[in-house]
Amino acid sequence: MDDEERAGTTVTTTHEFWLAGRRASGDGDFEVRNPWDGRLVGKVAVPTEAQVEEALAAAVDALPVFAATPAHVRTAALDHVAKRLAERSEEIARLITAENGKPVKWARGEVGRAVSVFRWAAEEARRTNGETMRLDTDPGGTGRFAVVRRFPRGVVLGIAPFNFPLNLVAHKVAPAIAVGAPIILKPAPATPLSALVLGEILAETELPAGAWSVLPVPNDRMPALVQDKRLPVISFTGSDKVGYQIMDSVPRKHVTLELGGNAAAVVLADWSSDADLEWAATRIATFANYQGGQSCISVQRVIADATVYDALVEKVVAKVQAQVTGDPEDEATEVGPLVDENAAKRVESWVDDAVAKGAKLLTGGTREGASYAPTVLSELPSDAILATAEVFGPVLSLQKVDGTDEAFAAVNDSLFGLQAGVFTHDVQTAFRAHRELEVGGVIIGDAPSYRADQMPYGGVKDSGVGREGVRYAMDDYTQEKVLVLTGL
Ligand code: NAD
Repeated sequence: MDDEERAGTTVTTTHEFWLAGRRASGDGDFEVRNPWDGRLVGKVAVPTEAQVEEALAAAVDALPVFAATPAHVRTAALDHVAKRLAERSEEIARLITAENGKPVKWARGEVGRAVSVFRWAAEEARRTNGETMRLDTDPGGTGRFAVVRRFPRGVVLGIAPFNFPLNLVAHKVAPAIAVGAPIILKPAPATPLSALVLGEILAETELPAGAWSVLPVPNDRMPALVQDKRLPVISFTGSDKVGYQIMDSVPRKHVTLELGGNAAAVVLADWSSDADLEWAATRIATFANYQGGQSCISVQRVIADATVYDALVEKVVAKVQAQVTGDPEDEATEVGPLVDENAAKRVESWVDDAVAKGAKLLTGGTREGASYAPTVLSELPSDAILATAEVFGPVLSLQKVDGTDEAFAAVNDSLFGLQAGVFTHDVQTAFRAHRELEVGGVIIGDAPSYRADQMPYGGVKDSGVGREGVRYAMDDYTQEKVLVLTGL
């Protein structure tokens, strides 16, 4: 493959961004490099302050127009995006791999999910009806009747992370189109190219000018945008540090935070046959490391009943050791590099810290450039950084517990609460997990990393506030407004 083919893009081009639905070149640019080999994937133009202002003013102007756009226009646009993403799937998957380092087979899966997000948004846009409400339940309401409909809260500022550069962008953009809320999308600086390709596809639709912009604004200029009163809704996915900083700085805005986690997979005593443990180990190993561990619901902690612990450890370690690591563009690669060398160095220092404090290293623990070997630890001491922080790397730790009470207490012994996986056959235990685990979602019979894009998705505790998942984000971007009719 030559460089151009590998990158899925032309390295010499400076990619323009999207300002109110049209291409724009800014002032200066920044580089996007391939995490695997440091190769230049592309340069991206930086919008000037005047251009950001122009996009904002256009979005504000578009608000009444877009909110009133007939559903058939919005659904046609959403269906078109789904169709074009599917048609361009291979090219976009290769671009995701080039800018993010995600193995190409996972990148294809990401494009498929983004297609599904746009399809779901089209479906949901077709069936939002509002509701009617009788008011004559009290004498004062006699002859009255209410209609409740949802209207956009205003222009949405969508801020996306690097780890799913297309699908998490889709989760911001598609619900906004579905409800007719203009959106200013800010992709992650490491991975803006997939969002810019989505812009190409959006530009093929009939959406009103001003309804959408994709602006790669530098981080140091983001606080001004966050503060801007014309952007009453902020939908943020990223780290808890930046997320809560945003929320604290704009207490009067409607802010959704989709943040990090240290997700646990629990294996209970009844999940004990060889086939059970084989499945659990496969899913745990896969979803601890599937994007170099850079998913907010990667398996970071495995909490296993003492009766199954030894057999599970043996299988998990064997499966992790068998994972194919290396060039993310190779079809066989299961685990690629992290987003950059600094990320890999941070993971290395946290594993070293854990081992120095007494953790047992069962496999892995080595780094080469931006790549960190899939790593399994046991006996993690509570004062290790890894015991509490989100590792966001291919590292899992195994903990032995006695019984369900202890297992569930261990899951809840975390600052975070995004999702948990519970391997059990017992329906009572499944419902108990649903009640008692302090997370936004419980996955029975699988790793915590399962997500379907129509599901409500989000966390409790430091994992965030609010829910994504197409319909839930649509609710978030809109507000109920009541119309009371009198004399009927
Ligand atoms: P990050 O917080 O560093 O960056 C996220 C986004 O915020 C980027 O677009 C960045 O440019 C922008 N940003 C940075 N400083 C800002 C500021 N001061 N004001 C406004 N925006 C600013 O996160 P990341 O490293 O890109 O992503 C990794 C994190 O995202 C992990 O913690 C992961 O768990 C989390 N995540 C959460 C979910 C979820 O749905 N809960 C999904 C994916 C990733």
